[in-house]
Amino acid sequence: MARYTGSKCRLCRREGGKLFLKGEKCFSSKCAVDKRAYPPGMHGQARRRTSDYGLQLREKQKLRRIYGVLEKQFAAYYDEADRRKGSTGENLLKLLECRTDNVVYRMGFGVSRSEARQLVRHNGVLINGTRTNIPSYQVKPSDKIELTAKAREQLRVKAAVEAAEQRGLPEWLEVDTKSMSGVFKAIPDRSELPSEINESLVVALYSK
Ligand code: SF4
Repeated sequence: MARYTGSKCRLCRREGGKLFLKGEKCFSSKCAVDKRAYPPGMHGQARRRTSDYGLQLREKQKLRRIYGVLEKQFAAYYDEADRRKGSTGENLLKLLECRTDNVVYRMGFGVSRSEARQLVRHNGVLINGTRTNIPSYQVKPSDKIELTAKAREQLRVKAAVEAAEQRGLPEWLEVDTKSMSGVFKAIPDRSELPSEINESLVVALYSK
């Protein structure tokens, strides 16, 4: 299964803001966006004008990078979102939120979505008692997510859970940090998701 393997901080700098791709480092003074708040590369500090298309493209790239989804799969999510009833932009966000790697991350079992993805790929996650190693698998309301005994013993998992507990966990999840399990109570409403994402720009891009 393909995934991006280049520098994550570079992606944040390209999108001009924190995408929180590296766990604890993102909350520290070592964050590359805080240190160099301009795009990477030789012409990163050059002044440029951004067209409407450019803005839409950047928003799409930002969303894709936050959730760690490659281009083709992202386009498939858009098609599915457009096919469903209701707002395409909101449907798109909800499809991304229901990915198993995202839910594992939101529950605090990984410090970043990529770490959560690795946990899923390495057979560390059970959904309703069944081993599930497909990061894109869509979690449904009421599904129970739990870690295997082996995954629960990992120091990085314990550290991630501790950090998540301190920062607070989302309302749409019920998490028992002691047993490292939780229930995906409901698909979050748009109002519960980050307001910095402008999904209407992504819809405008794909509607051309
Ligand atoms: Fe982005 Fe985190 Fe790197 Fe900062 S530390 S640039 S938020 S990935």
